[in-house]
Amino acid sequence: MITITLWAYGSGKIVIMDRNYDLHTHSTASDGTLSPGQLVREGAKSGVEVLALTDHDTTEGVAEAQEAAAVEGMELIPGVEISVSWNGYTVHILGLNIDPGNQMLQSGLSCLREFRDWRAEEIGRRLAKKRIPGAFAGASALSNGRLVSRTHFARFLVNAGYAKDVRSVFRHYLVQGKPGYVPGDWTDLESAVSWITHAGGLAVIAHPARYRMTRNKLRTLVGEFKEHGGRGIEVISGSHNRDECFTMARHAMDFDLLASAGSDFHDPENPWIALGKLPSLPTGCRPVWEQWGELQSAADVAC
Ligand code: AMP
Ligand code: MN
Ligand code: MN
Ligand code: MN
Repeated sequence: MITITLWAYGSGKIVIMDRNYDLHTHSTASDGTLSPGQLVREGAKSGVEVLALTDHDTTEGVAEAQEAAAVEGMELIPGVEISVSWNGYTVHILGLNIDPGNQMLQSGLSCLREFRDWRAEEIGRRLAKKRIPGAFAGASALSNGRLVSRTHFARFLVNAGYAKDVRSVFRHYLVQGKPGYVPGDWTDLESAVSWITHAGGLAVIAHPARYRMTRNKLRTLVGEFKEHGGRGIEVISGSHNRDECFTMARHAMDFDLLASAGSDFHDPENPWIALGKLPSLPTGCRPVWEQWGELQSAADVAC
């Protein structure tokens, strides 16, 4: 089936996508609100034919998503979104088409989740000092015993009446300089790329425009990422505007990197962009999915 989605703005040279891809989504295994099965069914209903589940720092939802995808006749790409600290920035690296059974990847991810557990308690302590009690327990309850993200704190604070919506909670409580912010010490760029590569996947820089880096800083990041074996950058993202997509397409071409496309879907109530509605890649981009076939699973390496 040929699926073409044009920019709402009108013109624009595009690559015709042979199928409807969405290579960046979240479920309740991290900070999404749909279970992996619900996400797959919603995606299928909206016309997505190839969906990557890319939860933050975990692959726990992949098996359930795969089962649901088999029922729907959809292709499910196992993925993950790894939290990285780079020169004072938190940068997200997607691992696409990974083997979730890979030992090196899993031990790296479990270190990140340990940091998350500590950080969640620390966020709770910091908010308590600002006369917001019970935030750790509240956020943990919303995560259903799975990993706790700042998004769970944000939802708790909205439910408890401290702010009108998730975005304003981030602005007032959870970003740098605000009471509930805990500086992150995630993994480094080289390790994240290496875990993904050892798990047979392709490493892709997620939503590069969201870091608000200068052009030079971003190109330094992209250059280092490529030196470490990174393969792609997200050109189409739910959080990129049209100009940002074309800028990222230019960077992809300059660095000879593959181009990816994903909605970064978390919540049907609050989507950046609806499932199944991603615009196509600009012309000249080499889509990341053309490489699936060439991937070889690398041997497990001890961490
Ligand atoms: P964490 O990995 O726990 O630090 O949480 C990061 C997540 O918070 C991101 O993946 C987004 O889902 C969400 N997030 C970050 N900034 C904002 C924001 N300004 N508004 C809404 N959600 C945000
Ligand atoms: Mn998130
Ligand atoms: Mn992200
Ligand atoms: Mn994401």
